[in-house]
Amino acid sequence: MFNKSIDALARQAQAVLSLELSQAQLAQFEQLTGLLLDWNARMNLTGITEPAEIALKHYLDSLTVLKVLPKAGRRRLLDVGTGAGFPGLPLAIVRPLLRVTLLDATAKKLRFIEEAGRVLGLDNIRIVHARAEDAGRDDAHRGTYDFVTARAVNRMPALMECTLPMTKRGGMVIAMKGTAAHEETQAASKAISTLGGELAGIDEVRLPGLEKARFLVMVRKVGKTPRRYPRQAGAPNRDPLV
Ligand code: SAH
Repeated sequence: MFNKSIDALARQAQAVLSLELSQAQLAQFEQLTGLLLDWNARMNLTGITEPAEIALKHYLDSLTVLKVLPKAGRRRLLDVGTGAGFPGLPLAIVRPLLRVTLLDATAKKLRFIEEAGRVLGLDNIRIVHARAEDAGRDDAHRGTYDFVTARAVNRMPALMECTLPMTKRGGMVIAMKGTAAHEETQAASKAISTLGGELAGIDEVRLPGLEKARFLVMVRKVGKTPRRYPRQAGAPNRDPLV
């Protein structure tokens, strides 16, 4: 149905990430596009509605996180503010051993992910309906994830308070950012150290045909997050740690 955009995804994953997607994985991406378009006609899941654009800006962009994920192993990854499942769902498709938790405060988007997981037959995803600030104070999530991803969620200082508390010591937050990555990260240096993190690097990522560079900001959890963080839901944004 969406052959052309899925063929392009296969080529681009190979060219940009040296990633060989299997026929089964490509079929899953094709199914996901069908579901996204179908549900998007009824609810606002994504502003991106062309299959080729979905493949590039949702799937390939999500998969750039693989540049910093180890190749194998049963790691736990949390995707904060996952929305319609990005970057978490594409990562779950290509890494069957990765246990992916998809967290969002909005229930209706999570219903989409639940349906997508069922149709695609993904048995390595789990859905959590919560505010990141609340989950960060819950021992079920606090300090338990090897990797925490977030794309298009918050500016860096607030985002750190929504991600670092749930990261395991030795684990890493991977924040997907646009052209303001360096500036935002600079502004978050106090938040990063206060919450037990340390900047590990900022990688530039280029997607074919897109002029603007994208960045992966990597923050390693090296210490403990003090008990008073995260603060009440909303506080990290209203009153960022600076
Ligand atoms: N990551 C997705 C969605 C980005 S939109 C993508 O890149 O396509 C931002 C999402 O973050 C929304 O779905 C919103 O509900 C969620 N969100 C924002 N702040 C949050 C918080 N504090 N806790 C949980 N989810 C949050």
